[in-house]
Amino acid sequence: MTRSKKIAILDRDGVLNKSNINNGYIGLFKDFKWIKGAKKAIKYLNQNNYKVIVVTNQSGIARKYFSYKDVVKLHKLMKDDLKRTNAKIDRIFFCPHHKDGVVKKYKLICSCRKPKNKFFKKIKKIWNIDYKKSFMIGDQLTDMEFAKNSNINGFLFKKNDLYKFIFRIVNERNN
Ligand SMILES: [Mg+2]
Ligand SMILES: [Zn+2]
Repeated sequence: MTRSKKIAILDRDGVLNKSNINNGYIGLFKDFKWIKGAKKAIKYLNQNNYKVIVVTNQSGIARKYFSYKDVVKLHKLMKDDLKRTNAKIDRIFFCPHHKDGVVKKYKLICSCRKPKNKFFKKIKKIWNIDYKKSFMIGDQLTDMEFAKNSNINGFLFKKNDLYKFIFRIVNERNN
């Protein structure tokens, strides 16, 4: 039996990224802007033995604002940028779908778009989750629903300092 793992699930836009360019549909790293304290927060989670996982809806792919490949590349550049400060995101899951999309392949009602939690089911298969200490941070009610559907705590972030926000959550959980 492996020891249970603390998991921190983070939404991307509005939690890690503060940019609102193109109404928040960000497909290029040059348009991505780290939120205050984001890198420090990720590093802090790494140091406190959390798996850091991003779960994000990227319907801009279905809407043809950018491609699937663009998003893969953007996420790689985010990870590369984090490496420079010795911080690490363990996994990124993104949903490319939308029911009103224009790209045929991605125009559908899927089970991975938050608040649906197909990605949490995937995470559960990879790690034995410590439900008490694991949490989700998002800026939308759909993120909180995702957390609820996954039986973990959800915290609504309001674009201040992510490090301060996460520091409090982690320390409340460990006491
Ligand atoms: Mg968001
Ligand atoms: Zn999906």
